[in-house]
Amino acid sequence: MPELPDITVYLEHLQSRIVGRTLERLDIAKPFVLRTFDPPVSEVVGTAVRGVRRMGKRIVLAMDDDRFIVIHLMIAGRLRWRAPGAKLPPKGSILAAFHFPNGVLVLTEAGTTRRASMHIVRGGTGLEEHDRGGLEVLDATLAEFGARLRSENHTLKRALADPRLFSGIGNAYSDEILHRARLSPVMLTSRMSDAEVARLFDATRATLVAWTERLRTEAGRNFPEKVTAFHEQMAVHGRFGQPCPVCGTAVQRIRYASNETNYCARCQTGGRLLADRALSRLLGKDWPRSIDEIE
Ligand SMILES: [Zn+2]
Repeated sequence: MPELPDITVYLEHLQSRIVGRTLERLDIAKPFVLRTFDPPVSEVVGTAVRGVRRMGKRIVLAMDDDRFIVIHLMIAGRLRWRAPGAKLPPKGSILAAFHFPNGVLVLTEAGTTRRASMHIVRGGTGLEEHDRGGLEVLDATLAEFGARLRSENHTLKRALADPRLFSGIGNAYSDEILHRARLSPVMLTSRMSDAEVARLFDATRATLVAWTERLRTEAGRNFPEKVTAFHEQMAVHGRFGQPCPVCGTAVQRIRYASNETNYCARCQTGGRLLADRALSRLLGKDWPRSIDEIE
């Protein structure tokens, strides 16, 4: 799922391409993607984009007349940009196409699980309904971060990836943050010392900033086309069995729900190789029944 670094870079590219431009046409290729019927599409067509912003893991296009288009890419949704007249992505993958005078913004989704969504809403109150309320860690103080972290007792993995607690962090970057902080994904937030909270705060910020810069550099002037949860340079995420870049120990995994978390036993759990099944149970129990519902 695209997280804060991916979405930040998307927004930077959208900013230069569509802000100030008129949405000339909006094709909804797969009707299920649009989850609202009022206001109708016709209320945003012919109006200009006044700004773009991130809300959690959502992308918001602020249109004229206080209308907003809220896009949630979920797992496999992606944005593409095509110059006028250029070949569009394969038809089956297209959910919607936003036509601007200078190009087409295409919302695609790979696979067959239809999760990506679009909502068109009116005014600030309409928009607020899509705000899960997660703290923006890059704008927060250590005290705010600590208070939010300790507001509920969860495993660290769950707490970091919970959109009600923290904004824009999901499965991939939470693995990377915990590795950088040298903390176990199954540590309970209620058991953390102040020093550990501070270490997690620093690691969260450093990870999000470093990855945003890396993705920005990778995309360069081109619209980001290779948005993925897996990167060769990641320390542990998606790297089960491969050597930890810090200590060389094989990366471990814990499977839970339909997910997995990756960690280094030497760097994060004091060298202990914890039983996968017990951890799966622990993490599974701490996981909402449907993460889709709370995204
Ligand atoms: Zn390690």
